[in-house]
Amino acid sequence: MDFNLHKGMIDTHFHGLIMEKNGIDAKDAVLEAFRHGMDFMVDVGTKTADITDRIDLLSSFDKIIFTAGNYPSEVENNSIENLTDSLEKSILGLNYSTDSKGKISGIGEIGLDWHWNYGTKKLQIELFETQIILANKYNLPIFIHNREADKEILEVLKKTPPEKGGIMHCFSSDYTMAAQVLDLGLCISFAGNITYKRNNKLREVASKIPQTSLFLETDSPYLSPRAVRGKQNHPGHIGYTYSTAAECQNITVPELIQIVQRSFNKLFNPEL
Ligand SMILES: [Zn+2]
Repeated sequence: MDFNLHKGMIDTHFHGLIMEKNGIDAKDAVLEAFRHGMDFMVDVGTKTADITDRIDLLSSFDKIIFTAGNYPSEVENNSIENLTDSLEKSILGLNYSTDSKGKISGIGEIGLDWHWNYGTKKLQIELFETQIILANKYNLPIFIHNREADKEILEVLKKTPPEKGGIMHCFSSDYTMAAQVLDLGLCISFAGNITYKRNNKLREVASKIPQTSLFLETDSPYLSPRAVRGKQNHPGHIGYTYSTAAECQNITVPELIQIVQRSFNKLFNPEL
């Protein structure tokens, strides 16, 4: 396993259980990432049905926080009612056996995906909205998935504003979209695709947005940065994304590390 990681970095979006299913020893990858200096990581859910397995896999790490949520594809095999009910149980720590009450620190990833057109647009919008309502009920930030759905994502966010804010994950839209997302009080997270050669436009967005609204993520096991493309991604690759973002912002990597740490603390402990 190769590492590009500096002390204090934070991976705001990875999928431990999916890494494991893809043949990566997730526990080992995470342990090594912390040994190489990783400060904090967010294990993001894609369906509430696997919450027990996710918590069992990585809950022994103090510096991993978990989100719970249903990805848009979940509308294909479940009713909205079952999905939101299962999410509420997850938030309350009712559907897993380990002593994990209060383990859920955010709702996600939730959102809209017009690329794959799961279910119907109407169902996806309904699922997205009901999950924001739950996030608001339990004072949790949200982690948003947006694929080719800028217009409707904004419509939902304006109609049902996420009160504790959140992160637009793997941002891949243009600056006009970024500006509107920021206006709604949300932050923007860039994944490994910001390092891809052809993505000048995305780097331009990263150079324009305020430093305090910026997060970085690996989205492991997906989206390996350019330098390790073709390999399975793991949180230890987060350094490539930090380097590119720091270049865009014209600051040093250590400066960016400090800025992200502050924003991260503010998002999850707003009282600090
Ligand atoms: Zn993801």
